[in-house]
Amino acid sequence: MTPEQAKLLKQLPAVGTLLEREDVQAWIEETSRTAVTASLREAVAQVRRKVLANGKEAPADSEAVLKTAEALLQKRQQPSLRRVINATGIVLHTGLGRAPLCASAVAAISEAAGGYCNVEYEIDTGKRGKRQRHVTSLICDLTGAEAATVVNNNAAATLMVLKAIAADREVVVSRGQLVEIGGSFRLPDIMAASGAHLREVGTTNRTRIADYANAINEQTGGLMRVHTSNYRIVGFTEEVGIGPLAELAHRHGLVAVDDLGSGALFDLSRMGLPDEPHVRGSIEAGADLVCFSGDKLLGGPQCGIICGRQDLIQAIEKDPLMRTYRTGKLTLLALEATLRHYEDPEQAVRHLPTLARLTAQADELAPRAEALCERLLGALPDENFLVCSDVSYAGGGSLPGDALETVIVQWRPITISAAEAANRLRLQTPTIVARVHDQAVLFDLRTLDDQEFNSVVKACVSAASS
Ligand SMILES: *Cc1c(COP(=O)(O)O)cnc(C)c1O
Repeated sequence: MTPEQAKLLKQLPAVGTLLEREDVQAWIEETSRTAVTASLREAVAQVRRKVLANGKEAPADSEAVLKTAEALLQKRQQPSLRRVINATGIVLHTGLGRAPLCASAVAAISEAAGGYCNVEYEIDTGKRGKRQRHVTSLICDLTGAEAATVVNNNAAATLMVLKAIAADREVVVSRGQLVEIGGSFRLPDIMAASGAHLREVGTTNRTRIADYANAINEQTGGLMRVHTSNYRIVGFTEEVGIGPLAELAHRHGLVAVDDLGSGALFDLSRMGLPDEPHVRGSIEAGADLVCFSGDKLLGGPQCGIICGRQDLIQAIEKDPLMRTYRTGKLTLLALEATLRHYEDPEQAVRHLPTLARLTAQADELAPRAEALCERLLGALPDENFLVCSDVSYAGGGSLPGDALETVIVQWRPITISAAEAANRLRLQTPTIVARVHDQAVLFDLRTLDDQEFNSVVKACVSAASS
């Protein structure tokens, strides 16, 4: 240690003394003594380390400590799970919470969640009621199913369906449909956990109805179709639709189930999106049970929806495991509000952020990109910002391989690398998550809101200068 360093360290204030200060007392009022004390201790330690590393340039007085402590306190007070800005263009980004909720779902939660709500209380009779009843008739109306129920996610839905139709029996599935979704959902493993025995038929690229027919024996519990929602098999392929599969099952007194996964509620090709199987289509084609996620193409909260034959849904609901997959009131509030928009598909596209973003056309995105670019150039005139066309993907295990034409603002930072710029954007408040490609940071207008432009501009200014 040099004499200068020793002198600087002598100036370091004691945490006890700082705690007496009026401004620090105000911090304690706003947060807590524990949080402020911890931040001050950490700030003193940081300043000490800086002095030892830098020598005489590093200031080590009360002001320096307080400035560091304030930043640490702010960081400490931020919630761990918080809003971030998704500039990636990936609409259903599993890491970023998949579907953003519609305004009426958010309103339903904020209105009811701070108090009590009638989740299991029937207002008409004053009796205890089933929590799923708030959404089941909507689901039946929208899908044409006889009955429906809801669990925590589609993984749970798939497991409950398999357990109900084939515990200790065989379920016939095509080899081309043994999906893995997001690492931890692997169909063969879910099948094993449910107690059903997987009977694989066909090959990876071709499975015919005769393959299913030949596999049926006295051990068979059901036939299953799994939507390959996060990949496509292309080329020389053949698969059996849910219609013929259901017909075959029924001829043998078996049930046909359809794990639709991403689960569109109506024909999305009407809105210019790729053709995706939808729930009503499966029910009409004869599926006895259909299950799908609430937070993929449906655009609602995380949950798994099962709909189909009444007797099968009843059997599922009687299973004691159902209690372990029970959805909370927040989910049901959001799901009911989301489903109500589907009474009119045009309305659904207008009000549900997921559908609005997926169907946004490049000519709607372009003027918004121009506006963002202009704002960025206004704030950072020496930096390189450029509007370009690009492609984005639905994400979240939906519409794989279907590139959506999009418009982006590209930033090629002058003094730092694009990767470093993206790192700095991530550490801003709010966090900005952007793609990096070919030495540029990309802001995709498909997932950015106009109301988020301010934050993006502020974050870029800070990232370019810090
Ligand atoms: C996404 C998906 C699942 C799992 O759904 P989660 O809601 O993520 O649990 C299961 N099956 C298929 C076909 C899927 O696409």
